[in-house]
Amino acid sequence: MKTCIACGMPMKDASEHAMNDPKKDYCIYCARPDGSMQSFDEKLESMADFIVRTQGFDRKAALRAAEDMMKKLPAWEGCF
Ligand SMILES: [Zn+2]
Repeated sequence: MKTCIACGMPMKDASEHAMNDPKKDYCIYCARPDGSMQSFDEKLESMADFIVRTQGFDRKAALRAAEDMMKKLPAWEGCF
């Protein structure tokens, strides 16, 4: 099983890969509507939004937490 290079989510079957394509290394949540991978800034924003919604962090703390998560993911190597 692969994990998404951009958010770390395990992808259990093809439907969780971008464009339902098991050859893609990133998941449906990290893909834009056209199937390309989101940029660093787009992913940082959407991850921070998710943390605010699910964990009730304020936005600044959520952005820091999102950065910490993204630092561990191969897609963003060299972005920090
Ligand atoms: Zn992902």
